[in-house]
Amino acid sequence: MHVNERDIHDLVGIGFGPSNLAVAIALEESGHPLRSVFFDRKPGFAWHPGLMFAGAEMQVSFTKDLITMRNPRSRFSFLNYLAEQSPDRLAKFINLRTFYPTRVEFNAYYAWAAQQFDDLVRWGTDVLDVSGVPGEDGIELLRVTVRDRADGATRSVLTRNLLLAPGGTPHVPEDTALGDRVFHASETRERLEESFDDLSAPYHFNIVGSGQTSADVFMHLRRSYPNARITTNIRGFAMRPEDDTHFVNELFLPEFPDWFHRQDSEFRQKIIDDYGLAAHTGVSYDLIPQIYREYYEDLSSGCGALSLHRFTELVGAYSDADRAVATYFHLDSAETSKVEADAVILATGYRYQMPVPALAGLGAHLRMETPERYAIRRDYAIESVEGFAPRIFLQGFAEATHGFSEVLLSLMPMRAAEIVQSLAENTSVESR
Ligand SMILES: Cc1cc2nc3c(=O)[nH]c(=O)nc-3n(C[C@H](O)[C@H](O)[C@H](O)COP(=O)(O)OP(=O)(O)OC[C@H]3O[C@@H](n4cnc5c(N)ncnc54)[C@H](O)[C@@H]3O)c2cc1C
Repeated sequence: MHVNERDIHDLVGIGFGPSNLAVAIALEESGHPLRSVFFDRKPGFAWHPGLMFAGAEMQVSFTKDLITMRNPRSRFSFLNYLAEQSPDRLAKFINLRTFYPTRVEFNAYYAWAAQQFDDLVRWGTDVLDVSGVPGEDGIELLRVTVRDRADGATRSVLTRNLLLAPGGTPHVPEDTALGDRVFHASETRERLEESFDDLSAPYHFNIVGSGQTSADVFMHLRRSYPNARITTNIRGFAMRPEDDTHFVNELFLPEFPDWFHRQDSEFRQKIIDDYGLAAHTGVSYDLIPQIYREYYEDLSSGCGALSLHRFTELVGAYSDADRAVATYFHLDSAETSKVEADAVILATGYRYQMPVPALAGLGAHLRMETPERYAIRRDYAIESVEGFAPRIFLQGFAEATHGFSEVLLSLMPMRAAEIVQSLAENTSVESR
């Protein structure tokens, strides 16, 4: 098949959240601009909008922004964002004496950085499918099919390299039927605004889960709906603090992925099992006493609006017109019970699903390390079979081989630079 060189991109990115934004910055700063385009289905930059609650804080230091760890002199840093906002903003932030800005402020910083790449991003565009384009020696290029959300029109672009950073997929437990009153926590803000707009009503909210999202949703509901009843069902005994103590936090030093990648899979899995509280399962240390205080005040005032149900596992949920019903299995007594609420909010986490649905058509060309996981090289590209020339890089999917930083913000600038370096080594440089 003859393809005009001018129609071929060096890089197509799927998603323009922080991960691919960090790559756009790394490309810009590398001096090796590539002919690239990024597609994101959102209408504009928004970092987890459904969970953007006033007052919720970042779980990492602002120094772990899009660039500072790698290039503290960069104009894309959080501190430069502050300096550019107004004459006194930087000085006043410094005077706050915190490493942890609010998520709302960090989202505004990300949006400011994203805006500087508007010429590269097609917002409101879904990536539907990726297929191989054959040449003389096998698959030479990738065809990426996208749909414009505004008019439904589909089109395709050709590329030598693909960079996926679509984020995690909200995890919905088995036998849970999503509906108006049963929804994943990632949609909390929209759902509350749509269906629970009476802030003084005595709604009953049932939260499922014990991680950071559950804690954030709890605090948001408690602050916004003073008369609401909030029940929380957790599988274990208690929410546990995130472990970001100094020695443990060395899991996020820039050299860690190199070392981790060299270990055998059994040993890597042991580290992931042993140190989960450093990444996924823990709640910010300072938030736990605040939540406990809410429970204590509820108890001492005799309101009885809050309750925590331990060792309960969600085994099903559905909603009908005027209520949501959740069924729980009690791990201690082996009984089941039902909770009827105005809404069941699933703070049940995210999964990085593999094989990636958009890559389904390329299955035979991509190597799997296990049936659930691609073989991902140190440079974040999926290993492919002979005769498959394009490279497909993943961000967020390689925790099993590269470590905890994969799904977190900490090492994004380093990962982005490694991907850009690999791209530059293998792609002829063209102008942006
Ligand atoms: C509420 C919340 C708070 C977090 N806070 C922290 C924190 O404080 N510290 C930390 O280290 N980590 C945090 N994390 C974890 C992690 O840092 C974030 O999930 C981060 O957003 C990951 O960035 P990303 O760009 O890989 O994915 P995302 O931010 O999820 O962005 C993915 C983008 O891809 C787009 N997309 C997906 N599929 C397609 C498609 N087919 N076509 C077009 N576009 C598509 C989406 O619209 C989205 O904009 C948090 C996670 C959550 C959920």
